[in-house]
Amino acid sequence: MLRITNVARRFAATPAVQDVSLTVEPGQVTCLLGPSGCGKSTTLRMIAGIEQLDLGTIHIDGNLVADHKNSLPPEKRSVGMVFQDLALFPHMTIAENIAFGIPKARRKSADIGQMLDRVGLAGYGDKYPHQLSGGEQQRVALARALATGPKVMLLDEPFSSLDQRLRSEMREFALDLLREAGAAVVLVTHDPDEAMMMADRIAIMEQGRVLQEGAPLDLYNHPVNLAVAQFFSYLN
Ligand code: ATP
Ligand code: MG
Repeated sequence: MLRITNVARRFAATPAVQDVSLTVEPGQVTCLLGPSGCGKSTTLRMIAGIEQLDLGTIHIDGNLVADHKNSLPPEKRSVGMVFQDLALFPHMTIAENIAFGIPKARRKSADIGQMLDRVGLAGYGDKYPHQLSGGEQQRVALARALATGPKVMLLDEPFSSLDQRLRSEMREFALDLLREAGAAVVLVTHDPDEAMMMADRIAIMEQGRVLQEGAPLDLYNHPVNLAVAQFFSYLN
């Protein structure tokens, strides 16, 4: 389980995250929605361990991984990340990309083959990223993030570079894979449709705070204010 309690982060005059609390159960997906600059990526980066906290605490499976004084490095937190710009290593094969990050002692080729199978890319291990389509690369990025068996998965607009058809395909595909992996998932998106389709819970953010958090239909039917309601006004 992922538990974020009253986290805050300021950059000079910019209070990027003012007060965010969230709990995500294993196997559940919480979507962070909100306007550009409201602090979604900063929140994810704090969970990942690549951004410091000024205030608050982050627990993963009951262990304190970060507060304003102490911070476990990303590789010790059991988190997987998929960000918008994928960042597969171009000089490494698909199999090498997936193996990256798994401790050497556990890096058995059999496991990589199984991961490739799970993302529907059996036989692609020896290819290089540029030989794959955008959607295929996205699946490799997911496989790589899941290869270490993380307790928490962080996805920051992972599908935004894909065309409409691939995007909806990837949503379904990723959802299956994430549920099977049983990680607590935080997914950042600009897209209310995506949130309604993928989320068990939605957290609407504005100016570094969570305006409302709840099951998608609850937010849709009972928005606490106009800003929340507006997010769903685009749905059809
Ligand atoms: P978007 O939807 O555009 O990706 P976001 O919700 O992810 O936006 P953040 O990236 O978390 O927003 O940024 C929140 C605020 O903090 C913004 O005003 C941004 O300019 C600022 N910010 C983020 N990172 C830094 C940084 N390293 N240094 C200074 N300011 C930063
Ligand atoms: Mg962002």
